[in-house]
Amino acid sequence: MLFQVALPAPLLRDNIVAMEFVDLQAQYRRLQPAIDARIRRVLDHGRFILGPEVQELEAALAARLGVRHAIACASGTDALLLALMAFNIGPGDEVLTTPFTFFATGEMTTLLGARPVFADIDPVTYNLDPARLEAAITRRTRAILPVSLYGQPADMDAINQIAARHALPVIEDAAQSFGALFHGRPSGNLSTIGCTSFFPSKPLGCYGDGGACFADDDSLAQAMLELRNHGQAGRYLHTRIGINGRLDTLQAAILLAKLDFFDEELAARDRIAARYTALLHEAVHTPGVVPGHTSSWAQYTIEVDEREAVEQTLREAGIPTAVHYPMPLHLQPVYAKFGLGIGSFPHAERAAARVLSLPMHPYLEPEQIDRVADAVRAAVGATASQ
Ligand SMILES: *Cc1c(COP(=O)(O)O)cnc(C)c1O
Repeated sequence: MLFQVALPAPLLRDNIVAMEFVDLQAQYRRLQPAIDARIRRVLDHGRFILGPEVQELEAALAARLGVRHAIACASGTDALLLALMAFNIGPGDEVLTTPFTFFATGEMTTLLGARPVFADIDPVTYNLDPARLEAAITRRTRAILPVSLYGQPADMDAINQIAARHALPVIEDAAQSFGALFHGRPSGNLSTIGCTSFFPSKPLGCYGDGGACFADDDSLAQAMLELRNHGQAGRYLHTRIGINGRLDTLQAAILLAKLDFFDEELAARDRIAARYTALLHEAVHTPGVVPGHTSSWAQYTIEVDEREAVEQTLREAGIPTAVHYPMPLHLQPVYAKFGLGIGSFPHAERAAARVLSLPMHPYLEPEQIDRVADAVRAAVGATASQ
């Protein structure tokens, strides 16, 4: 990885320069002195598990979000698991969530023996439609788990109000939305517990797996802190059944280095998204950010009619794309037992068939954005005239 940085970008057929979907090496080239210094410090002190950088990161994250407690953990998936475990969710319980998300959102509920119950999304934001929640709440519902997809917060005020009426906690899956604001308040601190991911390609990413939980409530935070480390209340004193869900000290150090540049990166993502939208809104369906929300632009996701053809044309032009996500959770084979067939959640199904994410990271150059936009316009023009 280190010496690849110095190599010229690979050439495809016809001298087309390949482009990264998320260019982590461009970021490393910019932030290298800060990241290297932070890594070196950990190698020097040698406290690789729960070393000082983990607490330093937790304090920095809590301060940034204005939340009392941040608990760093091993992944976004573990963050969701720890949050659900903190509420003792288990067999017989239901957790209300969106079918249009990364699989982990539903998976952790099922892993605990509980059942994810789905409600359809708002087709503009792709997030849970609060208007559909009430009808899905039963006497078994134990929590509402909205996702802030692609970086835009879900409609948390409306969701929190419904939850309060039913005395339910809300866990925000903020894996993609770290850095986003909802009416000025940071995603991750919009509900009872917020969960995020530091997977390398997320808006704030480390160089491996990582995640965090956020909570104001002292006893929930204490529960997650203990659950993260084998349910230990003290050294070798186990008061709960937990997991090994700790964040490595090295990953905490990398995140601390990147955190100093994160606001600049968010601003760059916003500029890039605006340029994409200006160039593309007449040709395709571009993302809609609700007034009062900001997006951390984990993804810049358009909708197209003939997705496979567009993907193929872009691939030939050296432009990588991705589909987040091609199959909603209720149609996944493992959830076939729920008997929720096609037509159960039409907005989620329609989105799954049409969405296409374009290259997005803070170091995209204006010429690269223009090249992507030109290629997209040409590709949809070509499919429309077929
Ligand atoms: C990435 C992601 C997760 C899982 O995070 P990991 O760190 O990969 O475990 C969960 N939910 C959503 C919406 C995600 O995008």
